[in-house]
Amino acid sequence: MAVVSHLAIVGCGLIGSSIARAAIGSGAVETVTLYDASADVRDRARRLDIGAVHDKLTSCVNDADLVMLCVPVGGMAAVATEIAGSLKPGALVSDVGSVKSAVYEAVQPHLPDGVHFIPGHPIAGTEKSGPEAGFASLFSGRWCILTPPEAEADGEALAMLTRFWEALGSTVEIMTIDRHDRVLAITSHLPHLIAFNIVGTAHDLETVTEGEVVKFSAGGFRDFTRIAASDPIMWRDVFLHNKEAVLEMLGRFNEDLSALQRAIRWGEGEQLRAFFERTRGIRQSIVDAGQDTDADDFGRGKPKS
Ligand code: NAP
Repeated sequence: MAVVSHLAIVGCGLIGSSIARAAIGSGAVETVTLYDASADVRDRARRLDIGAVHDKLTSCVNDADLVMLCVPVGGMAAVATEIAGSLKPGALVSDVGSVKSAVYEAVQPHLPDGVHFIPGHPIAGTEKSGPEAGFASLFSGRWCILTPPEAEADGEALAMLTRFWEALGSTVEIMTIDRHDRVLAITSHLPHLIAFNIVGTAHDLETVTEGEVVKFSAGGFRDFTRIAASDPIMWRDVFLHNKEAVLEMLGRFNEDLSALQRAIRWGEGEQLRAFFERTRGIRQSIVDAGQDTDADDFGRGKPKS
């Protein structure tokens, strides 16, 4: 039996189109409507048979029970402003943005009384973008973090959203907004920043090494290039909107990196070995928890079966 009668998805990219596919495939919804700001994306989404694609945002959401905002974090406020007058009383609005505090502040003030808002974040994805990149099993076996404001903590809306993500194959974890942003700063945002940086540095060096960076990329560099190929708009928005937590984690990271630099400089092999033993143990606990993936090691991609 369907969990949601009418699901409206705003943003038909990787995540929005994957939700549409998973929701239809699992029978979690009866009707799916979709909207994207780009006419080209709307045309491409129409060819995929993942629900009824609307040319107007307001008509897409106006009868929806659940409205899922799947646009980059920096676009959430504009969408909330535009849909506010078209939401039906009792509707539930949620989102998938990779940052929660900024999204809550951007969306909540625009929503009318009687409409629920529960921010969320599926810990699943790939480095690809666009409607063709989505797939129905993206959320299967993955976490979905929900960050309900206090007023919604025990409500029917939260129960419904939890059932929805469970129907898509996810395990739901409830967290405060602040905790989400700090946890994701270290587990996702900082690793991406490091990948963007190392690939940029290596590219600068390539003129010196005459193509050897690409030729010998299997030596660890290749995994970074996949992560650094992630959507530039999405990641620009993540860093601009989770600034404090990312800068805090970056400070800790720089301290630890300096300690490693010092150990290398002074030939402190035992210190290096102990550090690498510890990180190898962390990797093993991630594998044991079933959170390693075929696509990459940063909580994204298909789970291993
Ligand atoms: P995506 O593939 O680039 O899709 C986003 C879509 O939203 C694009 O088609 C974009 O159109 C459209 N859009 C932008 N502004 C809009 C607006 N104001 N109204 C309607 N549509 C708009 O990105 P994605 O990877 O699905 O990411 C979407 C959200 O999911 C982001 O908030 C991201 O933080 C979150 N998320 C991503 C991942 C991941 O691994 N990718 C994982 C978890 C959560 P244009 O291309 O024309 O701008």
